[in-house]
Amino acid sequence: MSSQYQITAIGHIRSPYKQKFAIPRQPRLVSAARADLIFTDEFNREEFVRGIEEFSHLWLLFRFHETADKGYSPLVRPPRLGGNARKGVFATRATFRPNAIGMSAVELLGVNYQHGQLSLRLGGIDLLDGTPIIDIKPYLPYSDAMMDASAGFADTRPYTQMSVSFSEQAQSVIDNSDPALVLEQFITQVLQQDPRPAYKKSQAGVQHYGMTLYDFNIRWQVDGEHNHVLEICPL
Ligand code: SAM
Repeated sequence: MSSQYQITAIGHIRSPYKQKFAIPRQPRLVSAARADLIFTDEFNREEFVRGIEEFSHLWLLFRFHETADKGYSPLVRPPRLGGNARKGVFATRATFRPNAIGMSAVELLGVNYQHGQLSLRLGGIDLLDGTPIIDIKPYLPYSDAMMDASAGFADTRPYTQMSVSFSEQAQSVIDNSDPALVLEQFITQVLQQDPRPAYKKSQAGVQHYGMTLYDFNIRWQVDGEHNHVLEICPL
C-alpha cells in the first residue's frame, strides 16, 4: 500500500501580507487582516461552497509554500520560549514540518461569485500572499471549541503593550485609502503584536523598520513600547 499521496490546491490566498515579516503567529491575532480565497480550475464553481455562508468561521488547510522546500527538523525552538528551549515539531505549530501543512481557523466575511470567479472574503488570516489552499472545512464550535483544553507553553494569547501613532503623512494616506482595507486598524494591530525578531526586543535605542502591506510600503520606528509610523508610500 502506498503512503505517498498527491494533493491539488483548490485555490490560493490573496493576502495583504507580502512577506513573512510581520505576519502574526496565529489567525485572529490581527482581526483586521482581510484576504480573499480565490478558487482555481475545477474548484471554481459555486456548487463547492453551497451553504458555506451559514458558518461564521472556517478551517483552512494550506501549504507553507514559501518554506516547504527548506526541510524540517524533529526538534524546533518555539519563539515564545525565547529561541532557547527545544520542543518536538509535533508539539508546536512551526512552519518547518513534515508535509509543510498548516491550519488556520478564520472568519468568513462573504462569498462572492463575480465575472465567473468564485472567492471567499476572510478575516483574521495569518497567511502569506499566494498561499495555496488544499482544503476548507466549517468550524464547528460544539466540537472544535474546548474550554477545558490546556496548551502548555502556548497557554495564553501573546500579549504586548505596544502603542501606535501615525505621522501626518501616514494619517493622510490612511484617510484617503479604501475603507474596506480598514488600514489604520490593520496597521495598528500588526504593530501592537510587535513583529520584531526576539533579539531586537531587548535592544535599547530607537529602531527603524519597514514592511509591505497591501500595495503600501510602511516605515516605522520603535522607541521602547511605542511604535510611530513615519511614512506610508503607495507602491
Ligand atoms: N495557523 C497556522 C498553523 O498553526 O498551522 C500557521 C502558524 S505559523 C506559526 C504562522 C506563520 O507562518 C506566520 O507568522 C508566517 O510567518 C508563516 N507563513 C504564513 N503563510 C506562509 C506560507 N505560505 N509559507 C511559509 N510560511 C508562511
